[in-house]
Amino acid sequence: MIIILKQDVQQDEIELFRKNMQALGFVLQDIIGETTHMIGLAGDTSTLSPESISRLSFVQSIMKVSEPYKLAGRKFHPQDTVIDVSGRKIGGGHFSVIAGPCSVESEEQILSIAHDINKSGAGFMRGGAFKPRTSPYAFQGLGLDGLTLLKIARQKTGLPIVTEIMSQEYLKAFEEDVDVIQIGARNMQNFPLLREVGRLKKTVLLKRGLSSTIEELLMAAEYIMSGGTTQIILCERGIRTFETATRNTLDLSAIPVLQKKTHLPVIVDPSHGTGYWYLVEPMALAAVAAGADGLIIEVHNKPEEALCDGQQSITPEVFHKLMKKISAVHAAITV
Ligand code: PEP
Ligand code: MN
Repeated sequence: MIIILKQDVQQDEIELFRKNMQALGFVLQDIIGETTHMIGLAGDTSTLSPESISRLSFVQSIMKVSEPYKLAGRKFHPQDTVIDVSGRKIGGGHFSVIAGPCSVESEEQILSIAHDINKSGAGFMRGGAFKPRTSPYAFQGLGLDGLTLLKIARQKTGLPIVTEIMSQEYLKAFEEDVDVIQIGARNMQNFPLLREVGRLKKTVLLKRGLSSTIEELLMAAEYIMSGGTTQIILCERGIRTFETATRNTLDLSAIPVLQKKTHLPVIVDPSHGTGYWYLVEPMALAAVAAGADGLIIEVHNKPEEALCDGQQSITPEVFHKLMKKISAVHAAITV
């Protein structure tokens, strides 16, 4: 942290501050220019309140120079984190696709889709059992019955389960049955939920909030990691902007920005990111070209009858062709 001092300040107040900070273990370094006097404060400044320091009588302004996300940041963990779920890897050069319906609707539906995406090369199966719907009258998911159906599909195909948790009430069920626990965009800042999920020490897929900055996403990851979890996959899924032609604006620049700031793998959701099935292919390929570590794609065997997000779901046939193009783009950028 750098503290910029006001002109003509009382030296005794600064000396008192200096002594207090030194007693707390901080190292202070004066930077004196022609017109400006600054003090560099080195140490774990995350324990200090920038607001309180700004209010000191001799302080003109402060500048934070270190990131507040110590566990998620690259600074203290330069090497990429590699997610490993039963040998299926994401991150550190490993690429994988998570695919499946928005919601689990029936045994026939999830089994049919799981078999198809497995044949096409998906590494993981997605499917919501608890759905965060805007309307309380819309289909809310099958709940625990949905988890049971996902387990049947996993048993038949070997595909690990990725599914969203919405409430702390189901932590135990998710700990036992789910391979990758998804925190949805709407819960990205549900801090008590993040803390509890972090304590499970399972793999977590953390989606970017609807209107969240990259720093807020990383701070949400920090919450989960502070519970002991190291295996977190970050997901760019589009953000709210003034644009109405698409459901969200897919922020592809978030991929390299995040990869610079964090060691955690970054995947992209072109389904929620665009809201339209015909945009899924171009945005999926663009995400791969931009260096994403994976994708999460909604696939439905009867999109026109889907109980949730049919308009943005691709069919297994379209998915099959897309997987070939994804492999080609991935190979093209891997040198
Ligand atoms: C989902 O993956 O089905 C979902 C609801 O996504 P998001 O939280 O990104 O809206
Ligand atoms: Mn969906």
